[in-house]
Amino acid sequence: MPFRDIIGHERPITAIQAALSHGRLAHAYLFHGEAHIGKSLTAMRLAQALNCEHPSSIEDRDSCGACRSCLHVAVRTYVDYVVIEPDQESAVPQIKIEQVRDIEHQFIYRPLIGERKICVIDDADRLTIGAANALLKTLEEPPGHGLFILISSRPQALPITIRSRCQSLRFTPPAQTQVEAALILKREIPPAEARFLALFTQGRIGEALTLDIAALRAQQRECLDLVAPATLTSITAILTSAESLAKADRGGDILSWLSRWIRDLVIVLVGGNPDQLLHLDQLDQLNRYARQADLGHLLALLNEIERTEQQATRHLNVHMALESVLLRLRDALGLTRTEVTA
Ligand SMILES: [Zn+2]
Repeated sequence: MPFRDIIGHERPITAIQAALSHGRLAHAYLFHGEAHIGKSLTAMRLAQALNCEHPSSIEDRDSCGACRSCLHVAVRTYVDYVVIEPDQESAVPQIKIEQVRDIEHQFIYRPLIGERKICVIDDADRLTIGAANALLKTLEEPPGHGLFILISSRPQALPITIRSRCQSLRFTPPAQTQVEAALILKREIPPAEARFLALFTQGRIGEALTLDIAALRAQQRECLDLVAPATLTSITAILTSAESLAKADRGGDILSWLSRWIRDLVIVLVGGNPDQLLHLDQLDQLNRYARQADLGHLLALLNEIERTEQQATRHLNVHMALESVLLRLRDALGLTRTEVTA
């Protein structure tokens, strides 16, 4: 699976291929940009292109994706290719100094097969201070045969001393249409589902390719039940729903969905582009609510949900938060008046 199969990222890939073709690869790169958009994949493709047994033409150097070297790189069993990443099992995932030391020792020796020994450091912003210092020493005097690729969605969290030793390549999410086209092709799903996934993941193609659509739709349905007039016009229904969702540990997810729904309502309210609506199939209901909704209230509510989500790790009472959001949403939608007349 060579570079040409990557969705988007034309700029960084062109830069990499030019460097490859002219033998001008840097010793260290920093691939940065949002999570799950293809940075790690590009790093792996670069390792394949460097070691492929049947590379394509010199001008447009790319791997075949099918030879022994390409396959070994893909499953991380290639001798001159190492990936280090944080230990995901621990509460605070970190890259430890031992992992970097281990690389240092391996990189003393020349590559066994190819021209470069390649080390990918995924989530490099999770290096401990000790590990970062050890890496800095290596980057200050890199072995001529070494290629380091640091990957980060939070590059500002990396010490500037490390960043300044790396050639920086910025990755941006691929266009929505590109993601949609890729999803239709690779997941064989209808265009409406592809559009939904592309919008939901906001171009994070890695997620879009793997997310369980049925599970997502079920979550969306839960949220739509909550914002249905039958629930929102009745305080009892609101309290009962909030309680049962919180008991089922669904509060956090639902808050995120409520925020997506409110964002859609705001788009409708300000006459924005319907192409941007995640709940496009709910346009009739959104239009009905938009007629009596209060924009200022809705925007304040979006802020409140965002704040709640940021605090969610600090054992916030999700049940209370959900209740409060729903009651305020009812106000913002002018449903208190509806109930009086009902
Ligand atoms: Zn190959």
